[in-house]
Amino acid sequence: MRISEILNSKKTTISFEFFPPKKAENEHTLFETIEVLKKHNPDFVSITYGAGGSTKDKTIDWTLKIKQTYHLNPMMHLTCISSNKETVDTIAKTLKENKIDNILALRGDIPKDFNPSTMEFKYAYQLIEYLKRNWDFSIGVAGYPEGHPESPSLEKDIEYLKMKIDAGGEFIITQLFFDNTKFFDFIERAEKAGIDVPIIAGIMPILSLNQVKRFVEMCGATIPKKLIDSLTGKDKEESYKIGTDYAIKQCEELLEGGVRGLHFYTLNKYNATKEIIESLF
Ligand code: FAD
Repeated sequence: MRISEILNSKKTTISFEFFPPKKAENEHTLFETIEVLKKHNPDFVSITYGAGGSTKDKTIDWTLKIKQTYHLNPMMHLTCISSNKETVDTIAKTLKENKIDNILALRGDIPKDFNPSTMEFKYAYQLIEYLKRNWDFSIGVAGYPEGHPESPSLEKDIEYLKMKIDAGGEFIITQLFFDNTKFFDFIERAEKAGIDVPIIAGIMPILSLNQVKRFVEMCGATIPKKLIDSLTGKDKEESYKIGTDYAIKQCEELLEGGVRGLHFYTLNKYNATKEIIESLF
């Protein structure tokens, strides 16, 4: 089912993100995670895609499996940085043949040894334009409450986000963030710029200080000092409890503020996400 239609008919959506395991021996963890989280009736689940295209086949396989085996509503991530039109068409055809309606259209991070002369799509908005012209999908795009690391300013960031919506993006899923004021400020800036599509909050339950530091380094989000202090020197169990409690409070405040959806970056683990959802609903 098209995510844009679900968003039209529901106050708040719940969704989960998974990544295709690299090693076969880790697949059972994802199967188990899907089994457990399925019970929470997600409106959709999304499957990530390697920017360099290395996980392409696995992403497609898992997207189909999630639909056929688990009867969930999948959204496939598709990065364009190293995709050409032929690859996009092949993937789109496979998704259509399997009645999959949703794509998260992304640029992807630029790999270190990347040769830009091979690019057919430079930015995500070009992929969206291409998909809209040639295929019929409900298209989501990425948004950055604290700005994308390469953006020269927050103003430019919103300007480029608007280009993705004007090109046909129907909803936005945000990068992870830990400070809700940044999210609410982002919504305000987006609205001022004329962006009127639903904005879904990306939530990452913190499992340890090292894990969260690694992620924010990659995506440019900030961790509030108070949160760093509370995690410092804590063992695995304590960190899990602090991180889960933090995410519960963060989600409660977002729900009170009228957030249109909560999208959980599960990292293929179910414990924290399950606990958060059970506490919220
Ligand atoms: P774009 O919107 O194209 O933006 C990229 C950069 O270019 C930004 O700095 C933007 O400000 C700038 N820009 C955009 N348009 C223009 C323009 N016209 N002129 C000049 N500058 C411009 N990565 C993966 O590899 N696989 C995934 O599965 C994946 N899933 C993600 C899911 C979510 C919800 C989010 C938030 C991110 C995800 N990412 C994923 C990360 C994403 O690919 C990176 O953040 C990437 O660097 C930017 O992708 P984008 O689609 O936002 O790019």
